[in-house]
Amino acid sequence: MESALNSSILKSGNRRRVLRAIYEHRAISKQELSSKLGMSLPTITKNLSDLMSSGFIQKSGFYESTGGRKAQIYGFVSRARVSLGIVLLKEYFEMIALDMFGDLIGSERVEKPFSRSQGFFEEMGFRINAFISDLELDKSSLLGVYISIQGLVSADGEKVLYGEAMKCTGLELSEIRKYVDYPCSFIHDTEATAVAEIWKRHDIKDAVLLSLARNFSGIFIINGSVCHGMELSGTIEHMRLFPDAQDHLCYCGNCGCIETYCSADALAKDAGETLEDFFLILRSGDKSREEIWERYLKHLAMVINNLRMVIDCEFILSGYLLKFMTSGDFKILAEYADNLCPFDICGVRLTRGAYSENVAAIGAALIQIKTFLNNLFGQA
Ligand SMILES: [Zn+2]
Repeated sequence: MESALNSSILKSGNRRRVLRAIYEHRAISKQELSSKLGMSLPTITKNLSDLMSSGFIQKSGFYESTGGRKAQIYGFVSRARVSLGIVLLKEYFEMIALDMFGDLIGSERVEKPFSRSQGFFEEMGFRINAFISDLELDKSSLLGVYISIQGLVSADGEKVLYGEAMKCTGLELSEIRKYVDYPCSFIHDTEATAVAEIWKRHDIKDAVLLSLARNFSGIFIINGSVCHGMELSGTIEHMRLFPDAQDHLCYCGNCGCIETYCSADALAKDAGETLEDFFLILRSGDKSREEIWERYLKHLAMVINNLRMVIDCEFILSGYLLKFMTSGDFKILAEYADNLCPFDICGVRLTRGAYSENVAAIGAALIQIKTFLNNLFGQA
């Protein structure tokens, strides 16, 4: 897969440890490496000299002198590899390019409603190729293109097993791949969202990720990793909040699913206006909007409390609605959830996710970076 990885340069455990330390510090001197890794200066010097030809590290100037000779700075080449993530939504698709640190290199939104048609995929492929070309990368540095989709995806990333939110159940990657000049894969948007949150916060252990996107979704994170389970995992949105409901028809065909009460689309439908307008008027003290928002938060509290009966852990809220939610909303939501809890032991732990917009595209790009870095550093 990767010539540099297969080269003898990175077969040494010590070199991988040096490389990892440079990556983790971004910029570091020989002396600091020696002290942090417990290796002698000559050993560090030899490893750095070997690593310089790998393309992953570079000399990045000198530290300010404190009297003696100025120390050389070694840095990790942030664009040694670049990753592309795409979020494919009903109304548009957005492309995000990230470097090896997960920092943004470029993004572009294409306002084109999704349709499962040759014309759509042809234009999508054209726009992806043009976007990558504009980044002016060495073609071999692109890790690939991960397409985040609102649906369940086969383990090999080749097929949408269930995608009724987008009306694309059964969509094959080959329908898109023929128009894209780079390796592609599908990824379930919920998983991509969770990966993005885990990347941002290394202390996440066990958690439930609830994505308050236009369509609701949720997935478990166990011991810092997304819990894949079998094929139906990460579909909390189709748990039926009100099993006897005759209305609140979900796109899955059932009535009363969480999706129909707690998605951003459901809130907008209940409000009968855009969420931008809704929150603007809500914050001015409008009583009817306050009732709608209270209803929404109470439903979300039911979801949280029900899941908490499965596993009492952190609940991370991420996605589109987050940008409208205040710390006061979080407090009220926690109170509602605690009121539903039959045990008066400790309060629910709600945390604000790191992302609101395009989180699934960011996560789709990060998955490739994470995999690449794990291979690069090995067991170092
Ligand atoms: Zn449903």
